[in-house]
Amino acid sequence: MNYKNFPMVPRVVFGRGSFNQLNELISPKRLSINAPFIFLVDDVFRGNAWLTSRIPLAYDDRVIYISAKDEPKTSQVDSLVEEIILTSRQGTSGIIGIGGGTILDLAKAVAIMLTNEGEAKDYQGWDLVKNPAVYHVGIPTISGTGAEVSRTTVLTGPDMKLGINSDFTPFDQVILDPELTKGVQKNQWFYTGMDCYIHCIESLTGTYLNAFSQSYGEIALQLCKQVFLEDNLSDVDSQDKLMMASWHGGMSIAYSQVGVAHAISYGLSYLLGTKHGIGNCIVFDHLEEFYPEGVALFKEMKKKHDIYLPKGICAHLDDSKFDIMINISLSLEPLWENALGKGWKKIMTREKLKQLYKKM
Ligand code: NAD
Ligand code: ZN
Repeated sequence: MNYKNFPMVPRVVFGRGSFNQLNELISPKRLSINAPFIFLVDDVFRGNAWLTSRIPLAYDDRVIYISAKDEPKTSQVDSLVEEIILTSRQGTSGIIGIGGGTILDLAKAVAIMLTNEGEAKDYQGWDLVKNPAVYHVGIPTISGTGAEVSRTTVLTGPDMKLGINSDFTPFDQVILDPELTKGVQKNQWFYTGMDCYIHCIESLTGTYLNAFSQSYGEIALQLCKQVFLEDNLSDVDSQDKLMMASWHGGMSIAYSQVGVAHAISYGLSYLLGTKHGIGNCIVFDHLEEFYPEGVALFKEMKKKHDIYLPKGICAHLDDSKFDIMINISLSLEPLWENALGKGWKKIMTREKLKQLYKKM
């Protein structure tokens, strides 16, 4: 057995208002006055002075606003990198991502591609990155994905949706300021929060489970239950706890894997562009057979918060489209093996998967 030597985020600040310390945290990392910091910021914050006035810009530093409407693409990473190189000829001091999983993943990918030749699609997979990334900082503004702590950046490329998994992917610095999540819409709060809940269930019931993953998964699950099922939490407590749930959920899957919901929702995402959080919810709702307790509790949370999920998103698809989703999904072998064991191919046949997609 060869055990993985896992890189972790080496520095993290936690606390409401800790975003105010951004300047003191990053200034020592400035390479020169000609090498700017580039802030990749979710465009939901454009014109929001409460947040943007605290972004410490000096010299040639720049904010690039990015829409989180679509999930990150390899081509988008390539054009951002090109734009940054053209305007920062003497190098980049750092990339700072401020937003949800979409922006955090873009920040990680851009930081990697600034120091590695070729195109982002060449690095989708495991351990293909050769050179350390530019200094990069993650500042989540919505909680659940665990992207702030993970060793991957999930990108949709021309051939597949797959992460750049590497030792150089994790952030050098993370700022966890739960106050930044206060403006998140309720439905989105639920979808992204459930990503964390689903990470816990998939990790804790998986065949890859070990004491490392279990310890993080159990804490994350306990926090999710408090946030989504208890009535007596204040907004402040709820924001603080969900941010820590996301962190622990991400740590839990680091040393194990996700499972059936993620494997199926990657197919939806690739073909239909269904976003990660809502896609996982749509899928998980139909997975009683695989996660009876987890799905029962999910339905309870959905009811408590009056969440209605889209139905019939696969209704209009023909066989060739189902084949595309099935191919993407079944190619994610480690996820299926974690969920169903070594004999997973006998359990999750193409026909069985198609019937599941048809229900969605
Ligand atoms: P997101 O980043 O797509 O954002 C969802 C919505 O919330 C957007 O409309 C965004 O503008 C809005 N939003 C974010 N912060 C807000 C705030 N404070 N106030 C108001 N609105 C706000 O959502 P997400 O669910 O965090 O991320 C999904 C992405 O994360 C997917 O691309 C998925 O592939 C990726 N992901 C990555 C990992 C990883 O380990 N790298 C893990 C899971 C998911
Ligand atoms: Zn997820």
